Amino acid sequence: MTAPTVPSQPSPFEYAPAPESRSIVDIAPSYGLFIDGEFVDGTGESFKTVNPATEEVLTEVASGSDADVDRAVRAARRAFEKTWGPMRPADRGKYLFRIARLLQERAREFAVLESLDNGKPIRESRDVDVPLAAAHFFYYAGWADKLDHVGLGTRPRPLGVAGQVIPWNFPLLMLAWKVAPALAAGNTVVLKPAETTPLTALLFAEVCRQADLPAGVVNIVTGAGETGRAVVEHDDVDKVAFTGSTDVGRSIARAVAGTRKKLTLELGGKAANIVFDDAPIDQAVEGIVQGIFFNQGHVCCAGSRLLVQESIHDEVIASLQRRIGTLRVGDPLDKNTDIGAINSAEQLARIRELSDIGEAEGAQRWQPACELPDRGFWYPPTIFTDVSPAHRIARDEIFGPVLSVLTFRTPDEAVAKANNTTYGLSAGIWSEKGSRILKIADQLRAGVVWANTFNKFDPTSPFGGYKQSGYGREGGRHGLAAYLEGAEQ
Ligand code: NAD
Ligand code: MG
Repeated sequence: MTAPTVPSQPSPFEYAPAPESRSIVDIAPSYGLFIDGEFVDGTGESFKTVNPATEEVLTEVASGSDADVDRAVRAARRAFEKTWGPMRPADRGKYLFRIARLLQERAREFAVLESLDNGKPIRESRDVDVPLAAAHFFYYAGWADKLDHVGLGTRPRPLGVAGQVIPWNFPLLMLAWKVAPALAAGNTVVLKPAETTPLTALLFAEVCRQADLPAGVVNIVTGAGETGRAVVEHDDVDKVAFTGSTDVGRSIARAVAGTRKKLTLELGGKAANIVFDDAPIDQAVEGIVQGIFFNQGHVCCAGSRLLVQESIHDEVIASLQRRIGTLRVGDPLDKNTDIGAINSAEQLARIRELSDIGEAEGAQRWQPACELPDRGFWYPPTIFTDVSPAHRIARDEIFGPVLSVLTFRTPDEAVAKANNTTYGLSAGIWSEKGSRILKIADQLRAGVVWANTFNKFDPTSPFGGYKQSGYGREGGRHGLAAYLEGAEQ
């Protein structure tokens, strides 16, 4: 089915290409696993990682077998018992500060590598992913010698070895969310990055060496789902932390049930972004765009359901379409790019399939006229109007640059529709009235509620979900509880 398009607004001026140079990154022809402070060959078959904007193969990466995972867990256990566990908390903090500073020093390298491997615009990897990853290490470094003040009694103890599995949408940032609190609390880790985006985790391994982090404290085992399963199911792992899809989260919960392992799950979402008729429209439109098109919509807390008050529906949609017409889709390394490449062919197929279902079920698809590159994986920013709460595109997580628009008449209806989802990760409210914002926020079943803004992250603020969005919190003081003994969050 071809999508209806509208002519884009004539631009008052043209952009010249402003590409960031990729010469700052040095990608080796192949990578091993990072175990016990060394890069070692994996015993599984290696796999390729590509640049989703061009389909160019970037390098080959080792795939961790059960035996490799076992080696990594044993290294983590030794480090927990011999070096990291017994170390003075203030000294652990020093290592974390050192890692944070190295992330800052090598920020440009990390940003370019992240955009190459993931497809996200350099503007975002440079201004969001990498600085926030460093900020997480700075923040948790500060907690390392203050754990007696976390509110979990005096001298709370670390759990031991943490097995951590992360997705591809914020590869370095998700690593930081997992590794920084685990280490600050005195645990050691075995982390498995996502199969389409392993490269910044491997560069992080190099940073661990540069920081002289004792061997075995951080182990990075690349591979696909089977490697993740081996990490999660290893007998000597004390804590499992997972971010990814609800289906995989469910299978992990089953695997961990009945063991002594502690579990944190950060899963999918289908957030409502609610715009009341008293909201400043231009700001709300910016927030809607930021909510759904940030990171190509590959965001678990994306504002993927726009709930707009009926009286302002047409005005908001017209203004939104005008704004979307100005978004630049294309080369992730171009500093003017707003929307980069879809991370993989599989994800693109899923976005296409759900969008086609949306149209087949009767919603109206709108996309701006925009030229997409010939190679690579691309999807234009898309909005669906005339969406009803029963439509698949109003219920399923699309995880792409696709917005479903619904309307409401009263605040009660807005709340009912917003909560009508199996998820509960985030929500947004746009209104001029503070009292209304507080009242509505109180009634929303979502872990994070943004008011007159969206997709803002800070290491001091806990993040996590209700219902099928998972359990446990990451970030802030709460994020430490997930890595300390005797601490239910
Ligand atoms: P995914 O669940 O397929 O994969 C996530 C990670 O789990 C990858 O590293 C993968 O290799 C690994 N994995 C796959 N099968 C496994 C298994 N059986 N055991 C252990 N590990 C396994 O998800 P994805 O496609 O990479 O990411 C997209 C999904 O992740 C979306 O649904 C999104 O909502 C969710 N997500 C949630 C958050 C959050 O913070 N809540 C953040 C990012 C992404
Ligand atoms: Mg890749």
